Formats: sequence, structure tokens, C-alpha cells
Amino acid sequence: MALQKHDFERIYLSPPHMSGNEQGYIAEAFATNWIAPLGPHIDAFEESFAAYTGSKGAAAVSSGTAAIHLALTLLGVGPGDTVVCPSFTFVASANPVLYLGAKPLFIDSEPETWNMSPSALERALKDASAAGKLPKAAVIVHLYGGMARMDELMEICDRYGVPVVEDAAESLGSTYQGRQSGTFGHYGIFSFNGNKIITTSGGGMLVSDDLDSLKKARFLATQARDAAVHYQHSVMGHNYRMSNVLAGIGRAQLEQIEQRVAARRVVFSRYEDALGGLSGVSFMPELNGTRSNRWLTALSLEGEDASTLVQDMLFRLEEANIEARPLWKPLHLQPLFSEALFYPHVEGESSVCEELFRTGLCLPSGSAMSVEQQERVIAVLEHVLSSRSGRLVTPLHAIPKTSA
Ligand SMILES: *Cc1c(COP(=O)(O)O)cnc(C)c1O
Repeated sequence: MALQKHDFERIYLSPPHMSGNEQGYIAEAFATNWIAPLGPHIDAFEESFAAYTGSKGAAAVSSGTAAIHLALTLLGVGPGDTVVCPSFTFVASANPVLYLGAKPLFIDSEPETWNMSPSALERALKDASAAGKLPKAAVIVHLYGGMARMDELMEICDRYGVPVVEDAAESLGSTYQGRQSGTFGHYGIFSFNGNKIITTSGGGMLVSDDLDSLKKARFLATQARDAAVHYQHSVMGHNYRMSNVLAGIGRAQLEQIEQRVAARRVVFSRYEDALGGLSGVSFMPELNGTRSNRWLTALSLEGEDASTLVQDMLFRLEEANIEARPLWKPLHLQPLFSEALFYPHVEGESSVCEELFRTGLCLPSGSAMSVEQQERVIAVLEHVLSSRSGRLVTPLHAIPKTSA
């Protein structure tokens, strides 16, 4: 009888990976009754996070999205403004632009980093400058942990006087010439959502060297209470602070960040060793002088049948109870942003990120994934790829059911 999907143990894309120390910090929060959106774990988490990233300060908040919202608010983004954003990213990079009544201006990816194209950014800012309306801010993303071309992108933004918010939600631990992602822009933001490289179940961090602004961020994140005992408010605020209990989880998770990056990079290497040699398969590149945290291993396929093969891979992986995902659907193709402007990498040519979306996918990449689990994923992918040459290397029923 043919094997059914649930005969296989589920392999997740990027499940939480606890270290064991989380429980101790949680118990401490309970023992001292700091079950609040402030407290000693918050202070310690912010301090150790700033120290790890090398930024002067950090403010723990309820999500990465909240951190982007606060950063754009502090940069003065408001109704009628535009904000530069990569098209190839998760919707949370752009939603806060809408919260503020502003419009995103989408920039294509470039082939070597899959991140924001400096040449498309240059054209966009040149046009905006000529029209007399420069964007209020630029959000730059390091997708799947891979660093964007920060030298070029920062130079262009600086030249036009456009402040940068680095969306490092996926790239904690990634470096560019030795410097941590999230520390190049005026603000950097991180996410501790359940699927990120470290997690607090949900949460985020805003980092900056501008300590005055971080103070304002904390103020806005706690309902913007003026310095008066009688609850006085002069500006609109939010309820965006992280809980002290969750910050305890974050402290234990952050202690493991280097091991987590190392483990994800090993996962990436195993995929690359097994499949990188096959014709038409290429993995997300890593820019010279940078270290990607390899949050998710992402690959793309070449050839006319690439899109069909990707569909086939996703179908076969799901059949084997393995979670995989297409690459992010570009935001300029989303109904939500149908009105937004988009600048392709090369003027007049089809966009790089649309092609990546059509031909790529993300593989299970958890830092606790076993070799046996990974071999199961690889066997399914080899099976699909072998159909390309009409040569079946691994009959699907021969793929092992569970980790031995
Ligand atoms: C996860 C993610 C976010 C949002 O973080 P949350 O903590 O889920 O709000 C923002 N940008 C990118 C690129 C992300 O992957």
C-alpha cells in the first residue's frame, strides 16, 4: 500500500529552538512578580541585545512590525509621504508605511544578493528628486539573512538625504564586513516571531545609536504618557512594549545566537553539497565580505520548466509532510499595493524579483533539524529533479519514514 502523508513525521520550515535556559528566566519573572511590560528582564535583554549588535541602544517591543512603525513615526513619515521599500520582502516591511498614511515606492532586487538593487534605487531617487518630492525614509531588508549591498545603498541614500530603517527581522547575526546587520541605518529593527532565528514567541527590537530617539520610541510605545501623575497625553501613542516574561525567553535565546547561526549555516551547506552540483539549481548567493545567518535556505531553478518544477517540489514535499514555501511574492504584485510605483533592476526589462518568485523556494532550515530529517528533504528534491532528466534516482516509497 502506498505511504500516506501522515506516515511521515512533519518537518517544519523554521520551528522554535529552545535552549533550556528559558524556563529559569521565566521562573525568575514569576518569583519576583515582574509579569509586566517592564522589568529587569527587559532591561537586561535590551542591554545584551545592544551589546551583541554593537548599537548604542535597543528598545524591546511587541513585534518587528511595531518596531518599523515606531522608526518611521520618529522619522516623521506622515500622510502623503513616500517611503522606499524593496518589493521582494514580507508584507510587514511595508504595512507600517500604510499605517502612517504614506505610500511605498517599491524597488526591485538585484541578482547577486536578491536584495534591493542600487541602480533601481538610484533611478527612483533621481526621479523623485527631479519631481521635488524625495521619500521620507528608505526601508532596506536583508532577505532570508543575506546582506544587501549596504555600501552602495547607504551611499545613495546619504547622497539624497534619505534616512534608512534597516529591516533586519530575518538577519540577526548576519554581518557585513564584520559589522552586524541592523546597525547601518538610523534605525534597525529585529523580529522574535516564532519562525525567526531566535524567538520570544512574538516580539521585536528597535536599535539605534540615537539614544534620544530611542527614549522617544519607548515613550510612544507606552501610550505616550507625559511626565505627570494624572495621565496626561499630548501626542498619540501605542501599546507596543514587550512583556518582561517574554524578555526572559529572549535573554536565553540571545545567549545561543552564535550557535544558531552556525547550525543554520551547516544546514545550508548540506543542501548545497547535495544539490548544488545539479544543473540548473542555484542557491541564494552570499555577497563577498558578508556572513549570512542563513535563516532560510533558499534556492532558485533555471530553465523553461523551472516554475513547474518548483510547484512539483512544493507538492511532493507537502506529500511527504515537509513544510516548504515559495519565495516571497513581490509586494508590487499584491492587490494591496496595486497603485504603488515600482522600479525594476534594469529599466524596461522584466523584474528580478518576479523571476525569483516564479522559480524559487525556501527549504526547512531549523537550527535543530537532524541530519536524517534533512536527508528526507533532500531525497524528495532529488526525486523531483531526477524526473527532469527522465531518470528516477530515488523512488518515493524508498524515502525513509522517520528519523532512524
Ligand atoms: C518577520 C518579518 C517582519 C515582521 O516581524 P514581526 O515580529 O512578525 O512583526 C518584518 N519584516 C520581515 C522581512 C520579516 O521577515
